[in-house]
Amino acid sequence: MKTADKKTTATMLVKEALEKAKKFEDYNIFTFVNEEGALKKAAEIDAKIARGEKVGKLAGVPYALKDNYLSPEGETTASAHILQGFTSPITATSVEKLEKEGAIMIGRTNLDAFAHGSSTENSYFGPTLNAYDKERVAGGSSGGSAVAVALDIVQFATGSDTGGSIRQPASFNGVYGLKPTYGAVSRYGVVAMASSTDCMGFFTKTPEDMDLLMSIASGRDEKDMTTLPDFYDKSEIKKVRKIGVVKDFDNDSVNTEIRNALKEKVEDLKKKGIEIVELDMPTLKYALAAYYIIVPAEVASNLSRYDGIRYGFRSENSKDLDSLYENTRSEGFMPENKRRIMIGNFVLSSGFYDAYFLKAAKARTLIVKEYEEAFKKCDFILTPVSPNYAFKLGEKVNDPIAMYLEDLMSVSLNLAGVPGLAVPVGKTKTGLPLGLQLVGPRRSDKSLIEFSKELK
Ligand code: GLN
Repeated sequence: MKTADKKTTATMLVKEALEKAKKFEDYNIFTFVNEEGALKKAAEIDAKIARGEKVGKLAGVPYALKDNYLSPEGETTASAHILQGFTSPITATSVEKLEKEGAIMIGRTNLDAFAHGSSTENSYFGPTLNAYDKERVAGGSSGGSAVAVALDIVQFATGSDTGGSIRQPASFNGVYGLKPTYGAVSRYGVVAMASSTDCMGFFTKTPEDMDLLMSIASGRDEKDMTTLPDFYDKSEIKKVRKIGVVKDFDNDSVNTEIRNALKEKVEDLKKKGIEIVELDMPTLKYALAAYYIIVPAEVASNLSRYDGIRYGFRSENSKDLDSLYENTRSEGFMPENKRRIMIGNFVLSSGFYDAYFLKAAKARTLIVKEYEEAFKKCDFILTPVSPNYAFKLGEKVNDPIAMYLEDLMSVSLNLAGVPGLAVPVGKTKTGLPLGLQLVGPRRSDKSLIEFSKELK
């Protein structure tokens, strides 16, 4: 991480990032650019450095914040119309920790509204364009953050991963993306999507930067009772001897170039003396179905608070309270948000709870067990991040099932709470980034990051 010093001041670093943000404006990366705030903070850090005072581990490092992290700087909109005009009175724990170390937020990044999606096309602000091909999607939901790092506007960006939203855009844009163990990083102050699978993580250019950010951002937070006791810095680096590959993912539903990239890496690892273990994980094929029941159920509940009274946008032409709720929610949510609210309420309704939600919850338990069994046979698992590399804008946005299928390999990790790291491993014949995913048991985040260096 390039931090500020006397020669390269924080002001210089921030100015450079702001200039790049401007240069790449047509990619539609930012929902808000924090020019004034960022320069002010940079000046403060420069003054400290000039006085010879101690500065933090991220002194003057410009970063981009996914626009579902709350902080008083700029509106927090989650790229949704219904949050337009909302300025947060509170600051997310992650933001507090990063800024305490001197990181400077230069802008908020675009996402699928409320993080519902796999392409950033569900944003009220329109799609973010892929860093390598402007006719292709950035991936999602954290598309803006991934592209901000890929285009070197910032050295790192935050993301949230409920079912792949960090890993998939990371792989679509050739950067590292970590979904930590559930509870490793506080969710406090991030707009909730599905509370039992939401994980906060980062996009970086290197494993070293990822390690530094995790050591800063992870840890117990009294404001989020699902956070785990501090383990990251204390964990021992695992000696990796066995890598698992999932048989069930080696089929025609996965793009050949991705399967070839995986095979190549497997061969490399064998040459390094690592044993490759074939894993039968038949339950994983139910992960997508279980995810698209459990997550909408939690979404329906988490989105019920947006009523036009408490936050952001309010539809003005309403005659009474009921129509105000109805109009605000009809106008304020994107179609994908509404789809999930409807599915969520349906699967939770009295007549269908047993048939859908309860079954999905049981499938989730089996998936947790399947991972536990798998990690008895190997140290880590290597899989594709998603069945395809970056697809064309407009290709799937009107076909929700096709879009959901993009999450085939990513969602089971969220259901199981295990960490996953998207690692850039090469390019397609046409020059688009390819990524693979390293999966580890809970709390193995540090070793996972360390081992990713073997895939370079
Ligand atoms: N693409 C997945 C979904 O739409 C994951 C989203 C996320 O991780 N926020 O649910």
